[in-house]
Amino acid sequence: MQRSRIIKVKDKTFAVSISERTLKGQIKRIAEQINRDYEGKKPVFLAVLNGSFIFAADLLREIDLPCEISFVKLASYQGTSSTGTIREVIGLGIDITNRPVIILEDIVDTGLTMAHMIDTLKKQNPASIDICTLLLKPSKLQVKLDVRYCCKQIPDDFVVGYGLDYDGFGRNTKDIYTII
Ligand code: 5GP
Repeated sequence: MQRSRIIKVKDKTFAVSISERTLKGQIKRIAEQINRDYEGKKPVFLAVLNGSFIFAADLLREIDLPCEISFVKLASYQGTSSTGTIREVIGLGIDITNRPVIILEDIVDTGLTMAHMIDTLKKQNPASIDICTLLLKPSKLQVKLDVRYCCKQIPDDFVVGYGLDYDGFGRNTKDIYTII
């Protein structure tokens, strides 16, 4: 069945911008890189809730290393513009001391969320920390951030779908949509 190219989420309209097929291809590419780079290691994946839950599920099934996954919840967004405030809602349920950590994020925008998370995690002395994000808006970055794995760079437009929301809605699509 043909999927809609235009969707409405609450009061906003979005047009398809990244297809399911492209997402799957990019995720496979990143997973292969991680499988190579982390050969012989047992990484801990930390998925940032809520937005990364679908990305984390798809990526993890392409990883063939012995690994663990845990979930952290942070929030810096309300509606379609950043509030700049970062709250840690759910803490880390796993000992990351001397472990290689790979953070799984849905989208890096200003980079403040990732910078804050890295500062917090460093206190627990992990062996290493890498960022793996589905999407990155390079023009919005406000901090120096080393994003080792990125599936796709996008322009500075608000997107939903494939786990990403607009005010809680719009997460349940297979493609990614951009606001129009
Ligand atoms: P940052 O701290 O990098 O500015 O913000 C990262 C967080 O903002 C992401 O995890 C995500 O929750 C939210 N965010 C940033 N840009 C977008 C966007 O275009 N769409 C959605 N749905 N969330 C976004």
